[in-house]
Amino acid sequence: MERKLVSIQRIDHLEAIPGADNILKARVMGWDVVVRKGEFAPGDACVFFEIDSQLPEGAPWAEFLRARSFRVKTARLRGVLSQGLALPTSILEGTVPPEGTDVRDSLGVVKYEPAPPEGSDVAGPFPGEVPRTDEIRLQSALGVLDELRGHDFFVTTKLDGTSATFFKSLDGPLVACSRNWSLRPGTNRAWTVAKRYSLDTALPPGFAIQGELCGPGIQKNRLGLAEVDLFVFSVHDTRTGQFLGHADFVSFCARHGLRTVPVEHVVTGEAARTFDQGLEHYLRLAQGLYPGTKNRKEGIVIRPLVERHSPTLGGRLSFKVINNDFLLKDED
Ligand code: ATP
Ligand code: MN
Ligand code: MN
Repeated sequence: MERKLVSIQRIDHLEAIPGADNILKARVMGWDVVVRKGEFAPGDACVFFEIDSQLPEGAPWAEFLRARSFRVKTARLRGVLSQGLALPTSILEGTVPPEGTDVRDSLGVVKYEPAPPEGSDVAGPFPGEVPRTDEIRLQSALGVLDELRGHDFFVTTKLDGTSATFFKSLDGPLVACSRNWSLRPGTNRAWTVAKRYSLDTALPPGFAIQGELCGPGIQKNRLGLAEVDLFVFSVHDTRTGQFLGHADFVSFCARHGLRTVPVEHVVTGEAARTFDQGLEHYLRLAQGLYPGTKNRKEGIVIRPLVERHSPTLGGRLSFKVINNDFLLKDED
């Protein structure tokens, strides 16, 4: 059965969010969703949009999502996971239909479908055993600073290429993936790099490596490379479900002749304990150029030396700080 992307539902429950004055946590079906305070009372009907709803451009009630391309995504607000969107039934014209009614067509909502990036190269879905690559912006999750405080950490350069994942399952062949898809073996960049590094034999079964493919024809080739290369930023052991910590990650890459993303700083001991964890300080660290070029770097990525779980993020503790100079002048 196709899920009801947009339907009339009931606000089952409302609760305050510590430290938040203007929003509440609501329960709608099985979803936790953040709503504006004052908009609903428990038991009220609402229009509930599930994640991946693509809202119509031009509707006043959708305007607040313009910056997010009108797409309803999983979000985390004040540490609260918000999945979906609940709006008052006053956005509907005429009388409110009964609970459960699918109103997607009358509101002009469609389901968001990611476009397969490399068209004919797509072989299938991204392997379920491996987390997809992603980094939260520090400004969106300041709570991570408290989680990092006092721990040894390292800073890598954020490269502006395209994400690649290579995974050797316990009993299957190597798969090479773009950010969201596994790719058909052939002449695409990911497979070209996989062959150059003999990843089919080099990767131990159960391991995945994740890195940024950079070079001619990718973004603006800000590193000025002559050919496409892979810069590894994560090694994942699917048998334990864990990423390797910094030391194991570095030695794993060295052992297999792989390049890592540039490690700019390793901050340990007293230096880590006394490190200025202010946002401004991180923003300054994110500035600068890619070494040997005149190109502004996109930013930095910060992780603890020893992998840690982040309650704020609901996953590994890791975040990006984008170079504001890059955002202002270079981003396309
Ligand atoms: P946004 O929508 O906020 O721009 P996004 O989802 O497009 O975010 P990116 O801005 O590209 O994601 O940031 C995350 C990506 O950065 C990762 O998926 C990875 O491909 C890439 N990346 C580049 N350099 C690094 C690095 N040093 N460490 C980790 N990831 C890196
Ligand atoms: Mn990117
Ligand atoms: Mn991005």
